[in-house]
Order: sequence, then structure tokens, then C-alpha cells
Amino acid sequence: MPTEELRQDAERYLMNTYARSPISIVRGRGSRVYDLEGREYLDFVAGIAVNVLGHAHPDVVAAIQKQAQQLLHASNLYYTEPQVRLAQMLVDHSFAEKVFFCNSGAEANEAAIKLARRYAHQKYGPDRYEIITMRQSFHGRTMATLTATGQEKVQQGFEPLLPGFTYVPFNDLPAVEQALTDRTAAVLLEPIQGEGGVHVASRAYLKGLRELCRKRDLLLIFDEVQTGMGRTGTLFAYEQLGVEPDVMTLAKGLGGGMPIGACLATDNAAAAFTPGSHASTFGGNPLACAASLAVLRVLLDGRVLEQSRVAGNYLAKGLQDLKDRLPIVKDVRGLGLLQGLELSVDGKPVVTDCLARGVLINCTVDRVLRFVPPLIVTQREIDRLLDTLSHVLSKRI
Ligand SMILES: *Cc1c(COP(=O)(O)O)cnc(C)c1O
Repeated sequence: MPTEELRQDAERYLMNTYARSPISIVRGRGSRVYDLEGREYLDFVAGIAVNVLGHAHPDVVAAIQKQAQQLLHASNLYYTEPQVRLAQMLVDHSFAEKVFFCNSGAEANEAAIKLARRYAHQKYGPDRYEIITMRQSFHGRTMATLTATGQEKVQQGFEPLLPGFTYVPFNDLPAVEQALTDRTAAVLLEPIQGEGGVHVASRAYLKGLRELCRKRDLLLIFDEVQTGMGRTGTLFAYEQLGVEPDVMTLAKGLGGGMPIGACLATDNAAAAFTPGSHASTFGGNPLACAASLAVLRVLLDGRVLEQSRVAGNYLAKGLQDLKDRLPIVKDVRGLGLLQGLELSVDGKPVVTDCLARGVLINCTVDRVLRFVPPLIVTQREIDRLLDTLSHVLSKRI
């Protein structure tokens, strides 16, 4: 079936929530995907930071096949081994002591928001429920998480929003200090704002937040849905930024392509949840957990993290070089293999031009090109991206 026919059927049968590029992806391998017509694309989107090990990684495929033959689903009324082992592995390799599993980033943040409210409620009573979040943040599309998200375009038309959120500018510690009241229960932020244009939190800022939260017994919540699972060169971004949160959310790369989310917390914070407080039918599903276990094993055992740090530096250097040569490029920001290139013009036509040249990239907040390739991306593949960008951007000056 040609792509045009599929596009027409999609318009007819799918709700109109996405502006899709006019290709249909049918399979992938490593850092490449292939469309219906058999054309190959270099994938610097990776499902928006999802396919951390690339497409069809043999260990992930084998884990899914094996688990699918054994048990797809059982319900959290019972124990299942993949879920417990995955929680153990996440705890062994992070600040956290307990894990709650769900199916997406928004759900992971919902769990974190509910945990923060209940923690404050139990310790300080019903008047302490406010959560401070950052402008230009992104936390998801459910009612609570779109309220937490500091972007009007995400909230528009869905009012009334959930009460109890206060927004402050990112990387501005005095703004947080000023926003604190007796009602404040938690501070929620991304260590690197992804959807908001790739802005990295400074170490001093995070250290200041950590101190503030410790003094007032506020929960410090890191949304690592995009930055987690090796994206920035360490398993979690907080490891490089010198500060440990009380609660952390994961999704995107966690299952290497399988839908899974998680809310991780210290014992102290996690104790606010008791049986019946929170639940998810599919959360911690054996199939998703088996895939996630395979992803974590490859990330931790192999040299993938190490290689991704080298690749991240190489990509950042190459983008910096573009900035030095092309006045259309205003800024380069990021950490590891989460890199952003801010342009002085709209980025969408650049995305389209790259697509026509067989390279998938993404654009966020209009003018920021975002690069989130699989962590196994090679220097040659990065060179191809940089050559394509150089060509496409040079044409636009
Ligand atoms: C993508 C993203 C989310 C939402 O995740 P979904 O799985 O789409 O619900 C939340 N927070 C951050 C930082 C994200 O990048």
C-alpha cells in the first residue's frame, strides 16, 4: 500500500492530534529505519528518545520473544518476577529505594504528583499540596501533568486546570525561594528541559533546590522521562549534576521501545503510598519489564554508556562547529546524546529538508532542532547528520 493511501486512511480514522511527516515507517535496525517504499533513513529521533539501543536490538528482541511465550500479563494482584527484578535493578543503580511501575511518562508524573500530595498531607495536613514547577517545562498530557507543564499551548482549552501548581522561571533559584509558601509540598523539574528547547539546569541551581527542599521537607522530584536511561551519558542525568532527588520519574527509554514508565523514590517518600493509594492494571507488566531488564543489562554491562559519551561529545563538537560557521545557528545546548541547536529561523522546513535527504530529526519550540539518536549511534552516522545539516542550513542563509 502506498504511503499516500495510508495517509488518507489515517486522516479518516485517527483523531487529528499529530502533524505527521509524510512517510510510513515499517521496520528498523540499529540507527536506521525504512519506509513503505523501502527508503532508508538515519534516525536521530529514535521515537523521541525512546529507542536507546536502536531498533531491533537482538537482546531486547530475544527477551520479548521469550517472555511472550511464557506470560504476557498477570495483574498486580500477584507477584511476577520480571517486575521485581526490574525494580531491584533500578534501585541498585540509583538513589531510589522503591519503585512504582506504570505505562508512560505522564503516568509516572501522575504517580509522583500523587505521592507528593499524599506525603505532605500525611505529615502536615490538607493545606500543604502546592507543587512548584518550571516555565517551559513538559510533564505530559493528562490533566494533572498538563497542569504541571509550564506551557500555555499545552493547557489551552482544557481549563479549569488542577489547583495547586505554581510556575517559576527555570534555572532561577530566587524565583523558587519567592514562590515558597506554607502550602508548598514539592518542587518538580526536568534536569534538562527537553520539549522546552533543551535547557540544562546548572549545578548551583540544583544544589540550591536540594538545600531548600531539605530544609523544608519538600520533595524534590526530577522528571527524567527524557533524560534517563543513558540519554545524557550516565544512566540518569542527576548523576552528573551533583544532586539526588527524593523522587524520579522514567519512561521513554526505559523499555527500549516497549511502553513502560516508573516512579522511583526514597523509602521516606514512598512510605506515603499504602495498599489502595495508587494502581495501574498494566503497570509493571511482565512483557514490558522483561524488555526493560534487557535494556538495562545492555546499558550497564556493555560499553554503551561509555560509547554514548564519546558520541555525545562528538555530536556536540560538530554542532558547535556548525554554529561557528553559520550565522543562522544561534546556540548549541545539551548533554550527551540530548542535543539542541537553536536557529534564528523556524526549524520545521529544516526538518522537512533533512527528511528528503534521508535523515530524521525533530524540532521543538519552533526554532530548536533536537537530536536524540540511539545511544549506539556511530561517528560515521553523526558525520552524515552533520553533513546533511551543513548542506540544508547553508541553503537557508
Ligand atoms: C515525553 C515526556 C513526558 C510524557 O511522556 P509520555 O510517555 O508521552 O506520557 C513527560 N516528561 C518529559 C520530560 C518528557 O520528555
